[in-house]
Amino acid sequence: MTEKQNLILTPTTAAAPEGVSGQGFFATSLEKAVGLARKNSLWPLPFATSCCGIEFMATMGSHYDLARFGSERLSFSPRQSDLLMVMGTVAKKMGPVLREIYIQMAEPKWVIAVGACASSGGIFDTYSVLQGIDRIIPVDVYVPGCPPRPEQIIDGIIKIQELVGNESLRRRSSVEYEDLMKKYNME
Ligand code: SF4
Repeated sequence: MTEKQNLILTPTTAAAPEGVSGQGFFATSLEKAVGLARKNSLWPLPFATSCCGIEFMATMGSHYDLARFGSERLSFSPRQSDLLMVMGTVAKKMGPVLREIYIQMAEPKWVIAVGACASSGGIFDTYSVLQGIDRIIPVDVYVPGCPPRPEQIIDGIIKIQELVGNESLRRRSSVEYEDLMKKYNME
């Protein structure tokens, strides 16, 4: 079993960030401590519109148990979540709703596009389907598959955790981030 398979299938404990340790003490930077707390307490908002949402239900179940990653607390309120998980086919009519939900989420926030439909429209190359949610909101991680298995969804969560844990506390007020928001007509 590879290290990643081991991480996906067995209970996890949060590893300490880099720092200096000695007898009775451990010191690290504030940024690393905040990153450690954030990455292990992500609160997902599941925006599930079709079949990929069923795979997410399996991911939450006892066999895969997303609670091992600190993300068992789902939120259906954008105000109390920091990880938007879009799972399923998104019709163009739903686009403004999805965008509004993203805007209502407080910073810092991250987005996973779960499955082919959310990432690119999937097999639905039609007039009514959004050809990827990154046309209306920024996406941090794409999970491939139709549908992706729970292991792939967990792999996406682990990738988000890596991003969150290493994100600078200043990123959200950086020029690059402002430019990204402007690109999506969000101030
Ligand atoms: S990617 Fe496949 S499984 Fe997921 S919502 Fe689209 S059609 Fe359904």
